[in-house]
Amino acid sequence: MPYLLEIFYFLASLGFVIGLKMMGKPDSARKGNLVAGAGMALAVLGTLFFNSQGVYVIPNFGWIMAGIAVGTIIGFVMAKKVQMTKMPEMVSLFNGMGGLCAALISIIEWRHIAGSGEGVEVLHYLPILAGLIIGTISFIGSMVAWGKLNGSLKDILLPGQQLVNFVVLAAITAVSILLYQTGSDIYFYAILVLSGIYGLLFVFPIGGADMPVVISLLNSFTGMAAACGGFMYDNKVMLMGGILVGSAGTILTIVMCKAMNRSLKNVLLGNFGGGNTAQASTSASGGTVREVQATDVAIMMKYASKVIVVPGYGLAVAQAQHVCHELEEMLDAEGVDVKYAIHPVAGRMPGHMNVLLAESNVSYDKLVEMDDINSEFATTDVVLVVGANDVVNPAAKTDPASPIYGMPILDVENAKQVIVLKRSMKAGYAGIENELFFKDKTGMLFGDAKDSIQKLVNEMKVL
Ligand code: NDP
Repeated sequence: MPYLLEIFYFLASLGFVIGLKMMGKPDSARKGNLVAGAGMALAVLGTLFFNSQGVYVIPNFGWIMAGIAVGTIIGFVMAKKVQMTKMPEMVSLFNGMGGLCAALISIIEWRHIAGSGEGVEVLHYLPILAGLIIGTISFIGSMVAWGKLNGSLKDILLPGQQLVNFVVLAAITAVSILLYQTGSDIYFYAILVLSGIYGLLFVFPIGGADMPVVISLLNSFTGMAAACGGFMYDNKVMLMGGILVGSAGTILTIVMCKAMNRSLKNVLLGNFGGGNTAQASTSASGGTVREVQATDVAIMMKYASKVIVVPGYGLAVAQAQHVCHELEEMLDAEGVDVKYAIHPVAGRMPGHMNVLLAESNVSYDKLVEMDDINSEFATTDVVLVVGANDVVNPAAKTDPASPIYGMPILDVENAKQVIVLKRSMKAGYAGIENELFFKDKTGMLFGDAKDSIQKLVNEMKVL
């Protein structure tokens, strides 16, 4: 059976492509993940048990199985325990491990070449070098991103940062040429160190709040590094997996930048948002805010015919998705038409809101994307903004000086009443004030989103 390996690889590749396609829609995303995972399992099994001649068991089988067992247990426990708001951190950590693997593969392959005493062939040298550089940058960059997201590392911007970055990149290029000419180990390890330094320089200055975009970019780097491994071993499934991750990460980065109306350059050099969120006053924009109580909001919603819920980052922080679904069901039972308006960058990662709401069993047909729901606000009685801020900020349309100017937003101000659930008047991710909160039709229900919605549920029960 000489073609068994090819059959396994073919099925694995199909699994990757179909799985990725299914991840594009919330209702098939979970299954898509399983299909892609099954594809990866086939790729690993094929590699372990077959070669181009047929059945063949890899010699260091025991070590590999032990590694898989340890990795599976750690990954399973982490994935089960992680909170939704900590997902970008975990993605960053896992991504870093991918980069590290790619770099280690390059180191091992270089040791083989160095040990063989034969010259370096350019076709072999290039993927080793690319895997080493991209994998190391991705590993170190992801570790810094992880540290920044969990608060243990701060933003560091060196004087003349761009020049320093350029010098390090130029040094990597120069040493790579020397390595090719001489084949000397010292240059190889110099590239490793320089790439690590570049990974630090690349991620340290980026504003903490821009980390999701950077993580997506690093994710695409890891994919490319893995694809280099595919070239090195002439392994088509590795090449294909790497290219899919690389291109998906690149597309995601572009989509995020577009949805935030910011260029990638601005994200990488802009030091935007971060921990320095402004403390807005209650009387800015020449107005004052109108505070409302849960009883009034409950009455307003019970007698409404249409309510749209706008979930944002605060919903994720408060873990208010389950109680929000309970409120939605109560309103449904009263004959109120309830929908959720999903902004593409609400929360802190793409699809954040879809995942949270799906977790609490909100029906997918109630989740309506921004472009489809914007025209519906004008016929909506009450909009409930749950821990969202930037994605409903009219400054994106009206203030050319605003950092979010041009970002598409949810037109909630067109509704008859807007109720905003947040804890204070603090700004969101972009660190800017929101004039929506000062409009006559807006009522502020202050408090943790989960507590506030629970109060609404309790009030609805006694009405
Ligand atoms: P924002 O970060 O703009 O605002 C969130 C609001 O939630 C805050 O104003 C905060 O106010 C409130 N909040 C926080 N905790 C709670 C709580 N426990 N209960 C109630 N309210 C709470 O969120 P949005 O979702 O509106 O916007 C997302 C932002 O993130 C956008 O600017 C987007 O560009 C950016 N971004 C998104 C990415 C993505 O892929 N989704 C990637 C990178 C960036 P308070 O502290 O007063 O409670």
